[in-house]
Amino acid sequence: MTDTPQPQPGILDIALYQGGASHADGVERVIKLSSNENPFGTSDAAKAALIATASTLHRYPSTDHAGLRNAIGEVHGLDPETIICGVGSDEILCFLCQAYAGVGDEVIYTEHGFSMYRIYALGAGATPVQVPEAERVVDVAAILTAVTPKTRLVFLANPANPTGTMIGQEALVRLADGLPGHVILVLDGAYAEFPENYDGGASLIATRGNVVMTRTFSKLYGLGGLRVGWGHGPKAIIDVLNRMRGPFNLSSVQLATAEAALRDRAFAERCLAENTRLRRWLIDALGRVGVPCDESHANFVLARFASPDEADATEARLRADGILVRKVAGYNLPQCLRITVGDEASCRRVVSLIGAFREAAA
Ligand SMILES: *Cc1c(COP(=O)(O)O)cnc(C)c1O
Repeated sequence: MTDTPQPQPGILDIALYQGGASHADGVERVIKLSSNENPFGTSDAAKAALIATASTLHRYPSTDHAGLRNAIGEVHGLDPETIICGVGSDEILCFLCQAYAGVGDEVIYTEHGFSMYRIYALGAGATPVQVPEAERVVDVAAILTAVTPKTRLVFLANPANPTGTMIGQEALVRLADGLPGHVILVLDGAYAEFPENYDGGASLIATRGNVVMTRTFSKLYGLGGLRVGWGHGPKAIIDVLNRMRGPFNLSSVQLATAEAALRDRAFAERCLAENTRLRRWLIDALGRVGVPCDESHANFVLARFASPDEADATEARLRADGILVRKVAGYNLPQCLRITVGDEASCRRVVSLIGAFREAAA
């Protein structure tokens, strides 16, 4: 024992989360394509709801989140009793690790998986286990091979960040069916709204006791600054997570604003349609200037360069012009850049700059 305070095992192995850049030296107005935010901002109805909460700020917020859970239940066709709301979907991921994994337990995530899975696993004292992907696509067989009697959780974003790829329903069923009953499959649906005809895993949850999904208001709904997300799963698991949850984890401002955003279907549909159209354009246009991207199912694309140097030089060139994109070396993709699908002008700007930069270098 040393004579200074020591954190729990695992905590000092956590590398701090690196967020997307938000400013560029010497540039006043940046185009931020580094954090998968909604380029069209936030629904006006949501902003109005936020302002209206000013008159009730002296009151404590609801502890059961019934209003927001009922709205989610209506929009997604789910039983509100099987929904939990959190401070971003990140808080739900954290509850899952805290409640179900500890020292000696293993938490599986994949080669290019979201960095918070490792952070929360270590925070709970558990051992993170990274499993290979197949050419930037989650490999169900590799995950199942990595499962041991110590495995407690399997984290999977579908669509995935930062690759933008996803696995289909058949592969998801194979994964869920292949896991022992004591292992929870967590389907992180931060981008689940973007593909067509994807329920985020709801149908898997309906028939199993060990599948959970998480969702967020940060991406499609343009509320990353507000911090609201939710989870859905079997009642027994939701009950456990609620025991971890602070009674006032969400403020009245968060609850009212998120509910109004969810109910503004027209805004969400418009943003979705624009994202689909501009994502197609961006992937095709980058291809024409010699930069391949995988087919993306989210609100960003993963641009592949010939080498890490080329990716870094391109990122620096864009940043000099005030365009911020995301380096993803920390996700084992040093030769790639993740580019959020912006509005049309931003998409055109990014492609024309990359094209000109490549021509000058050739
Ligand atoms: C953005 C993101 C989240 C977190 O979203 P919050 O709800 O803002 O906490 C979770 N998972 C993935 C894969 C993400 O990209």
